[in-house]
Amino acid sequence: MRYTLLTLFPGLVRPWLEESLIAKARERGLLEVEVVDLRAYGLGRHRAVDDTPYGGGAGMVIRADVAVAALEAAGPADEVILLSPAGEPFTQGVAEDLAKKGHLVLLCGRYEGFDARVEAFVTRVLSIGDYVLMGGEVAALAVLEATARLVPGVIGDPESHREDSFVRGLLDFPHYTRPPEFRGLKVPEVLLSGNHQEVLRFRRKEALRRTLAFRPELLREARIGALEAAWLAELDREG
Ligand code: SAM
Repeated sequence: MRYTLLTLFPGLVRPWLEESLIAKARERGLLEVEVVDLRAYGLGRHRAVDDTPYGGGAGMVIRADVAVAALEAAGPADEVILLSPAGEPFTQGVAEDLAKKGHLVLLCGRYEGFDARVEAFVTRVLSIGDYVLMGGEVAALAVLEATARLVPGVIGDPESHREDSFVRGLLDFPHYTRPPEFRGLKVPEVLLSGNHQEVLRFRRKEALRRTLAFRPELLREARIGALEAAWLAELDREG
């Protein structure tokens, strides 16, 4: 998988790509990431990238001619993604879709964002959540992380995706490790029992419990069987 990340602050992004799983995947040739400085496409002696908004108001707007010159230089891509809080929600489903592609371009805004005409040159506008960040770098890295971990080989055990939050439309079950007791808090007995059927049952129920508590709206679309639906009704009655 190839990524081209366009930003006014390459120095914010590069260290992230030089550690842990992303760095390893890059070394192994599974991921290729190019970070491009948008300022290189700025205008004039000062490499200006932004200007005041037509219609007045606060803040500066990144110019369309600058952004599009950078996008065109990035070459052909399967998806050109503009990061914006005013975009379509970035979900696990979108990540799964994007992870099948070969080349993603990620365009990070700053200030008030981009001149709206830039949207005519992208394939998607994605928001990572209902809040406003200072810039698109964290959002672009979120898209990169969420998609890169789905690229075969990037994460050691592909089975580890199966029960992840959102994969079946539920939140993940709670995980525990040693010690069996910490400050009076005990690991649930069933996890120490060695009974795999019971462990599976416990985890499925806990995933439902968490989803019901934190994200009940997910249950409308979740892929659950009849047994899980019965547990869910039980949990709902328990309150
Ligand atoms: N005026 C914009 C608005 O209210 O929609 C906010 C601009 S924000 C301060 C600057 C940049 O941060 C945006 O252009 C975008 O690239 C990025 N950004 C901020 N929040 C984001 C979010 N929730 N998802 C994706 N990108 C975001």
